[in-house]
Amino acid sequence: MMQQYLQLKAQHPDTLVFYRMGDFYELFFGDAEKVTRLLDITLTTRGQTAGMPIPMAGVPFHALENYLGRLIKMGESVAICEQVGEIGVGKGPVERKVVRVVTPGTLTDSELLSDKSEAILLALHTAGRQRVGLAWMAVTQGRIHMAECAADELGAWLSRIAPSEVIYSAGVTERFEQSLFAIKHAGSIACPLSPRPDWQFDAGLGERKLLELLGAASLKAWEAEGLALAHAASAALLSYAEHTQGRNLTHIHAIQVQRDDELIALPLATRRNLELVKTLRGEDSPTLFSLLDTCMTGMGSRLLKTWLLEPERSRRSAMQRLEAIRVLRGAGNAVAAPWQALRAELKGVSDVERITARTALRQVRPRELVGLGKTLQKAKLLAQSGQAPAAYLMQIFTDLVPPEGCAELLAQAIMEEPAALVRDGGVIASGFDAELDELRAIQNNCDEFLLELEAKEKLLTGIPNLRVQFNKVHGFYIEITNSYKDAVPERYRRRQTLKNAERYITPELKAFEDKALSAQERALQREKWLYEQVLDQLQPHVPALSRVAQAIAALDVLCTLAERSLTLNWAEPEFVSQPCIEIESGRHPVVEARMAETSSGSFIANHTRMNANTRMQIITGPNMGGKSTYMRQVALIVLLASMGSYVPAASCRLGPIDAIHTRIGAADDLANAQSTFMMEMTEAAQILHAATPHSLVLMDEIGRGTSTFDGLALASGIASQLHDKTKAFTLFATHYFELTELPARARAAVNVHVGAVEAGHDIVFLHEIQAGPASRSYGIQVAKLAGMPAAVLHHARHALEALEAKAGEDDLQVNLFDAPELVEETPAHNPLAQALADINPDQLSPREALEALYQLKKLS
Ligand code: ADP
Repeated sequence: MMQQYLQLKAQHPDTLVFYRMGDFYELFFGDAEKVTRLLDITLTTRGQTAGMPIPMAGVPFHALENYLGRLIKMGESVAICEQVGEIGVGKGPVERKVVRVVTPGTLTDSELLSDKSEAILLALHTAGRQRVGLAWMAVTQGRIHMAECAADELGAWLSRIAPSEVIYSAGVTERFEQSLFAIKHAGSIACPLSPRPDWQFDAGLGERKLLELLGAASLKAWEAEGLALAHAASAALLSYAEHTQGRNLTHIHAIQVQRDDELIALPLATRRNLELVKTLRGEDSPTLFSLLDTCMTGMGSRLLKTWLLEPERSRRSAMQRLEAIRVLRGAGNAVAAPWQALRAELKGVSDVERITARTALRQVRPRELVGLGKTLQKAKLLAQSGQAPAAYLMQIFTDLVPPEGCAELLAQAIMEEPAALVRDGGVIASGFDAELDELRAIQNNCDEFLLELEAKEKLLTGIPNLRVQFNKVHGFYIEITNSYKDAVPERYRRRQTLKNAERYITPELKAFEDKALSAQERALQREKWLYEQVLDQLQPHVPALSRVAQAIAALDVLCTLAERSLTLNWAEPEFVSQPCIEIESGRHPVVEARMAETSSGSFIANHTRMNANTRMQIITGPNMGGKSTYMRQVALIVLLASMGSYVPAASCRLGPIDAIHTRIGAADDLANAQSTFMMEMTEAAQILHAATPHSLVLMDEIGRGTSTFDGLALASGIASQLHDKTKAFTLFATHYFELTELPARARAAVNVHVGAVEAGHDIVFLHEIQAGPASRSYGIQVAKLAGMPAAVLHHARHALEALEAKAGEDDLQVNLFDAPELVEETPAHNPLAQALADINPDQLSPREALEALYQLKKLS
């Protein structure tokens, strides 16, 4: 057995091998030690090799999924080795085989996958240093994506694709390998990177494999010709995926080539800073995605995420989606808007996309097929009901028509509530197969047959206490007590002698016995065979089923966006060809939702007007005034419009956009060991290189990380460059007042500020964007709000006065530490202020409010 194990292990040296032995999966040697460490399970030993005990660890077979899930999360891969031979047949150990390899990027098990995201495997290939070919897919989808990009853009691509596992050719240069690890280190990806044999990255092989899968003579229809690097990556991608699944991937039916210039660039920093799918703290909510995602299905949620993260520059898809959403919203005041009715139907539909992939990979479970069948019937009804004036919706309703006969086949073949696994039987419906029915009838009719036989034999032999019975050891028999021994007919054969009775068998009973005993085993075999037949019959329908899945997902997302737009009071954006970002009464959707949830006041809407003449806003005003919120809201509105969603504004006109760049102070990137200032400058430099006049750039307090003059000098340089050369739409928030002089010389720049009003030593934020520069920065008032000790505030006020008095003079020498001692004022008891503070307006009835007003008046 150890020999067999070592042979199998030799084929999977870098993978944990789970070796099935009876009710356990066992691991040996280094694998055993590793899982013991990772999973905190017990390490034991078994047998010896070269006089040393062999380390062993095991997990019970029924808990496999749980352990797999944990290991995969840690980035490990597992080869599952099952007993495939018949137990007790032949010499030596039972035949075993690795039936599949589970890796982070090739997951297909419904239990291990999140409903809302895909596990993506990505292959990389590069020949020289300049360009890189990428190929990636989720095994649970029927599509391969390909792209070629410049080597220095690889990080951005990888961070957008967010693979769960990356493979690359072992033959790449050390330098390329290093740059790959640097990308991982920089946080663009967080997944295992594994080298694969060089020869698997073969462009010719890749093209041939793709053509074979697609059943096509050329890749022209997919615009995927001549991409040698991407073809080479595809070859390795497919070999690896097939290796893990232990079979060919017959469900791949489409290629999608992505070109750098087709999508609106959303660099990693942008996705992070705008909190699109993760908060800055790394949580799933509250984010833009968590606000949007009220989808009814996992397929919908996954597609919504793709739409959000991959908005197209050409606004074709966005316009189609908007048109569809308009139709689904209905007349606005309609009692039952189209989206509501459709959504009700979408509730509880199965994950057709994953079930289809698992059908193609022959891993599908009986209950999933029942779900598929029901969903297809629903899809059929939906397709019939769909009459829509929008082209995209029409396409969806056409695609919803399920392949002929599929739903019927599933309804006829599979029981309504089948067993969880085919190996247990109880899966194929009765009436589907005559032979199975007969085999089952034998089992079910056993008792009846025995009673009938007993009655018949009693009659024939005249023995009143004759009994027909069964036991596990001796099978069926007719028992006759010794008192009737003489009446036993010729045709009875003795089977067993007891003290008071004899047991017999007849040819008729023997025949029945053979049939009955084998019936159960045969029924099970027959069921397994029939199940495979059903899967065979479904195979040709895989592409059509994927189409249905896509249609359901798209319909779900469109209904979701329609619902969101109504619930959150969003408006349809308008696309124009001239450069502009014009937003009336825009709101930050996530901040607004949070305020509504916590009933903490209402969000103040703000306008944004940028166009060819006004490309830059220099935004000043106190901290906490709402500068970041305003800048982010503009970016989010632009993004939402670009993906084809309604937007949180009264109206929005949008010209062409090719990228959203953000440089917003985040927490120190400790993992990266770069100083905050270094990070800040690196990101700003990248933006200056990448941005174009069609880009939206957000710069939040650039220059903060160094001394005042350095920072100011750099900030003014960066602002001038963005204005004069880059000409991007720029929102530039700064606390350097000196920068408010820029608009005087830069024609396309304007000053705006967040409004605040001062009341004594306090400040009230208006959260309103107003024209012109801020008059003051109110730093001390904000510090007071933050609970700064009175002595510090007192000192700061004096220091500020000293600084302001000296401003403009040549001698900048100011003594900051000359502030007079704060005379600790015991806050004079002010009964009016106290009474005012005690009032909670939200809890007063009108009558009580009036009463309170009189009280206050009295105190004044
Ligand atoms: P700044 O960047 O100027 O320091 P922020 O944008 O971080 O200020 O805003 C501070 C807080 O003010 C936010 O957390 C939010 O609660 C509130 N706020 C900002 N903008 C608005 C607005 N338009 N309406 C209501 N509250 C807002």
